Amino acid sequence: MTTPEWVIAIDGPAASGKSTVGEAVARALGFLYVDTGAMYRAVTQAALARGIPASDEAAMVALTRRLDIAIRRDEVGDGRQYTVLVDGEDVTWALRSPAVDAHVSQVSAYPEVRAILVREQQRIAAAGRVVMVGRDIGTVVLPTAPLKVYLDASAAERARRRYRELLARGQSADYEAILAGIRARDAVDSRRAASPLQPAADAVILDTDGKSIEQVVACVLDLARQRFGMESDSSWPSSS
Ligand code: C5P
Repeated sequence: MTTPEWVIAIDGPAASGKSTVGEAVARALGFLYVDTGAMYRAVTQAALARGIPASDEAAMVALTRRLDIAIRRDEVGDGRQYTVLVDGEDVTWALRSPAVDAHVSQVSAYPEVRAILVREQQRIAAAGRVVMVGRDIGTVVLPTAPLKVYLDASAAERARRRYRELLARGQSADYEAILAGIRARDAVDSRRAASPLQPAADAVILDTDGKSIEQVVACVLDLARQRFGMESDSSWPSSS
């Protein structure tokens, strides 16, 4: 049975741990996990691949309209949380390239690009039992979500996490460059006119500085149980 009101909105700035926390919470509850950042990244990556300049707003809107973006829960075993197909092509890892990082905030500032992707996100969430992660989920996409969480952390802490993540994956990393990139994206995301990054008035703000992922996940699960009137894990319906 679908329960549309069972949705959890998680927002926060770049590298605040949203995707790791969102995925773990969804897994614990048997909910669908949807990372909306992947959709903005997919549009940006498609533009780069097709030689469309991210600065051409009309071309970006036209591209967003005609792209077929599918997010699947594939277990590929290469560390991915999900698979993203754009017009049938697997672009999951291409979405994480530095070129996409550098252009995605510009693309996601276009109101019509947002409108198209927000409609799609609302359609996905309508079935319920969803943890949706992004920047504007609690404010714009799902303003009536019964649980909204805003994950925050200082830019230095977020840059440290990204830096350790890259080293753990055996990649080279430059802490100062990562910090500068995070600050630049924060600035664009929070100052743009269309849906700027900000906590919803009724969001629970969690400062994650100095907290482990496990602590943050436990906190969100506690909030979910209180908000949805559930006593314990066993009260949750099974997802399968
Ligand atoms: O979460 P992630 O870092 O993958 O998001 C990439 C970019 O997509 C963000 O920097 C932001 O510009 C944009 N975004 C957005 N609204 C969302 C999710 C992501 O504007 N709901």
